[in-house]
Amino acid sequence: MSSIIAKNREDRPYALTDGGGTSKELSSNFKKRCLKNADRTFAQATQCQETNSISALLSMQDSAFVVHAPNGCVGCVSFMNDNFKVGQFHRGVKNIRNARYIVTNVDEKDVVLGGEKKVREAILELEKRYKPNIIFVFTSCASGIIGDDVDAVASTVQKEVNAIVVPIHCEGFKSKVPATGFDTVFRAIQNYIIKGERMQKEKGLINVFATTSIGYKDQLELEGLLSVLGLHVNYIPFYSNVEKLKRIPGAEYSVAVCQVFADEFMEYLKNEYDIPYSKTGMPIGIRSTDEWFLSVARLVGKEEVALKHIEKEHRRVLPEIAKIRERIGGKRVFICAGTGRGVAAATLIEDFGMKLVGIQTPTYEEALIENFDQLQKIHGGEFIIDIANMQPFEQSNLVNKLKPELFIGMSTWVAKLGIPSTHILESKRPTFGYNGLLYLARKIENAVENPSFNIKLAKHKKLPYKESWYSENVFKYFKEVGN
Ligand code: SF4
Repeated sequence: MSSIIAKNREDRPYALTDGGGTSKELSSNFKKRCLKNADRTFAQATQCQETNSISALLSMQDSAFVVHAPNGCVGCVSFMNDNFKVGQFHRGVKNIRNARYIVTNVDEKDVVLGGEKKVREAILELEKRYKPNIIFVFTSCASGIIGDDVDAVASTVQKEVNAIVVPIHCEGFKSKVPATGFDTVFRAIQNYIIKGERMQKEKGLINVFATTSIGYKDQLELEGLLSVLGLHVNYIPFYSNVEKLKRIPGAEYSVAVCQVFADEFMEYLKNEYDIPYSKTGMPIGIRSTDEWFLSVARLVGKEEVALKHIEKEHRRVLPEIAKIRERIGGKRVFICAGTGRGVAAATLIEDFGMKLVGIQTPTYEEALIENFDQLQKIHGGEFIIDIANMQPFEQSNLVNKLKPELFIGMSTWVAKLGIPSTHILESKRPTFGYNGLLYLARKIENAVENPSFNIKLAKHKKLPYKESWYSENVFKYFKEVGN
């Protein structure tokens, strides 16, 4: 039986997590295999893989969670929970609920004496309170460092509860790439839910792999596109349940919302269950939406049908986009996002005639080189790629040097440089497909034409860096600059 091998994203063949330079330099050195990982001698906080593991599973309807961690590790869960509640409202749920989770609050005493007892008690408490069908137990740096055997607790307590107890090994220190947290989730689904079981294929069923950050409008957009091809959807794992997870092997096809999410899992399903899949960028903007839709159509053998639909949709949306292009075309843009959404954003701005001057991506690897080369064809090879997970000091320096007219991404830092900013990680509004394009076009236009908030903010609030930092080489703290 094939299986997903437990490894971090940075352990994939030729995957880089630290580095920077112009796109053309990086691409050429990468292809010659002389681009080395330029580890930083100084680094700031990064996004953690635990966040992605929790975010992937948070919206599962019949689930509950134990997070075996100090309280701070679940800081991000409050905003995920907010998205989850809005997501329920959009889906017509009457009694909207919070995500059900218990944090074990690992403290000094647990670090000395171990915290396994707390995990066991939390699982029993969740079973008693909510009677879920599945309980996920997330690990953390602290639980990993003290060596708590969460698997042993899960298998022992399993005899006492009805819920399936599934450990998720997402210790933050294990990986620099947050997307590793998604792989961890799919490995757990494979080992604890699917378990190599066989089932009858369901005609026209397609697995669509997506996280809680995908809004309801985007769900409808994808369903609309796939229904043109005669397909119906099994969404995994967002807003799903144990039954839907068990149906995964019964699908005829698989696709994910981007080239990063579930890539290894779809390969496993192809090898083990003969489920062909399509792996393309996120369907944001004309180019990426066309490609996403066409790649599924090719799987199904309905390319002609898809092309006709694309033509109809282009006729509908392009006149509106042309008007917006007249107002914001030519503006220079910097993008910071997860790799899937970041690359999609860089294709989206092409629709508005905007120019990419820089992009931050957590990884630069074999599986993504084609995507970056495609961006080079669109925007030329001079834009800067900063291979970094967050690193605000580096971002602030780079953005300050490049002086883009728009920043797309989390603008916590660049807003204080006075740079107009917006983001396209919208779990409450449309971003996908042709309808998402119209919404994002207006949103981006609005950000470019109304920059005064960030300009005023910059006058009154400074970032914590000395002026001298902005004149330093942005990649000063790389060990291997230029290699
Ligand atoms: S698991 Fe580790 S990296 Fe993640 S939030 Fe907790 S302490 Fe930070």
